[in-house]
Amino acid sequence: MAPEVHETAGPEDTAALGAALARDLRPGDVVLVVGEMGAGKTTFVRGAARALGVTGPVTSPTFTIGRRYTGTVPVSHLDLHRLADLDAEDPALLADYLTPDAVAFVEWPEVAEPALERIARRVTLAHLGGDRRRVVVE
Ligand code: ADP
Ligand code: MG
Repeated sequence: MAPEVHETAGPEDTAALGAALARDLRPGDVVLVVGEMGAGKTTFVRGAARALGVTGPVTSPTFTIGRRYTGTVPVSHLDLHRLADLDAEDPALLADYLTPDAVAFVEWPEVAEPALERIARRVTLAHLGGDRRRVVVE
């Protein structure tokens, strides 16, 4: 499928794109969320998680590589920024989050990408100046 290219004017727009994408996801799907710090990755994931029925705070995992939320389906949110390389034990860490019943969103996925299965979408966010962002969904 051709990539969808969007431009957003603020965080609400980016969250709305996440919500729209969430509607097409199935349990077991993995969504890669790529982009620099502050590009809006977590904002996008928050919008998606809300659409999947998650009501509590959705913030980037800090002390762990991921969080699991309960929505209409389980939702996993990983941030692999601090994972410099994938050590032998890391695939097992990932397995706690990438379960067949859950929809998973992975920020900074590069290090783990070869080990990830069921990649449904790749979302790439980029700064366009001020509050504007380009959001590409492939
Ligand atoms: P990341 O997870 O990529 O580091 P965050 O989603 O945590 O990014 O932070 C993005 C920041 O940029 C938030 O403070 C958000 O309010 C702000 N922001 C401004 N404009 C946008 C936009 N168009 N889309 C997403 N976030 C935006
Ligand atoms: Mg983030």
